[in-house]
Amino acid sequence: MGRALIIGAGGVAGVAIHKCCQNSEVFNEICIASRTKSKCDAIKEQCERRYGTQEGSTKITTAQVNADNVPELVELINSYKPDVVLNLALPYQDLTIMDACLETKTHYVDTANYEPEDTAKFEYSWQWAYREKFEKAGITALLGSGFDPGVTGVFSAYAMKHQFDEINYIDILDCNGGDHGYPFATNFNPEINIREVSANGSYWEDGHWVETKPMEIKRVYNFDQVGEKDMYLLHHEELESLGININGIKRIRFFMTFGQSYLTHLKCLEDVGMTSIEPIEFEGKQIVPLQFLKAVLPDPASLGPRTVGKTNIGCIFQGKKDGKYKKYYLYNVCDHQECYKEVGSQAISYTTGVPAMIGAMMVMTGRWNTPGVHNIEEFDPDPFMEALNKWGLPWKEDFDPVLVD
Ligand code: NDP
Repeated sequence: MGRALIIGAGGVAGVAIHKCCQNSEVFNEICIASRTKSKCDAIKEQCERRYGTQEGSTKITTAQVNADNVPELVELINSYKPDVVLNLALPYQDLTIMDACLETKTHYVDTANYEPEDTAKFEYSWQWAYREKFEKAGITALLGSGFDPGVTGVFSAYAMKHQFDEINYIDILDCNGGDHGYPFATNFNPEINIREVSANGSYWEDGHWVETKPMEIKRVYNFDQVGEKDMYLLHHEELESLGININGIKRIRFFMTFGQSYLTHLKCLEDVGMTSIEPIEFEGKQIVPLQFLKAVLPDPASLGPRTVGKTNIGCIFQGKKDGKYKKYYLYNVCDHQECYKEVGSQAISYTTGVPAMIGAMMVMTGRWNTPGVHNIEEFDPDPFMEALNKWGLPWKEDFDPVLVD
């Protein structure tokens, strides 16, 4: 069917690449390009060992690229000529990669909204500003094709299409019941993760944002196949687009579970200034404390073999169907060790890498092809929901869920 250029060779990219290789009928060829080429080569070797190099397998090539540099990206895209670019580097690279896609008229898919490196600010404004340019160039940008954002948006579009006439309340619940045995480690890029959880919380209500202090709102929820967990209200980027794209919304909140050990360590690290993104002078060099902290923490990619337990992520919807009140819960349960056996990663990378592959497939096969810049809930959810079941993230429905107060 076609070829994809995958930028980044971290935890999420590793899973997405495995999934592309499993889906070689669609992904005939992929190029893995990242800052450190040896990491791309390692994933290539692992996948070739697992899926073979015979006729019909995905043909993998690798390249070195600095994704902060538009001319370098343009050169790579022009020489490889992919049908789609799947951006699995860091949110800091979104705009340079979008610029390169515009210049080469290539479709674009990512899993996280752009963030400037020097301010922890989570909003779509920068990427939405590219709408007209993408429309004029006749190319599609699909934003946020991970799990949250990503599957949560697809779940919302599916609920809207099949279950409700209007959705008034959405609670997104992201539960990680996994245990990696370390007192403190993050399940994906520590810098991005800590920036997200140490920022103020917020939720969308009656057309405006309500801001909270970090971890100010706590609830306890009993998750299917995981059990009871403490969860905390966070700001999360999909609240912004869902607030606009889902009919009748009165309130959307996002909750994520954290264990006590994680929170105690985080508090301590914050108190001593280790989570700061303000550069400081250290032995004659400028360093960013959070980047230094990242260097001493376990690499999320190394957590795979030691993480046991399950994730449970989904959305509880409340709204109206045929004039009557209705509630509905859509969620996925994913087992860390099963993921490790299948692709050598824990479930956090898995639950992001699978939808990243599916999003790239939707765009590449033309099933989702609307020139412009679009959030995932703007597309027909049905083929994506089908693909989730097929590619390792089956979903469950509950028509009488316990609500979050
Ligand atoms: P990692 O840190 O494991 O991987 C990031 C990769 O990007 C690394 O290979 C890194 O290279 C590469 N990279 C960084 N900067 C550059 C650059 N300037 N040029 C080229 N390559 C670069 O992160 P994850 O895999 O955990 O996360 C990837 C993305 O997925 C992030 O944007 C994250 O926010 C997002 N995400 C989304 C989720 C969702 O549900 N929507 C959930 C989890 C993550 P190097 O190896 O040299 O460092």
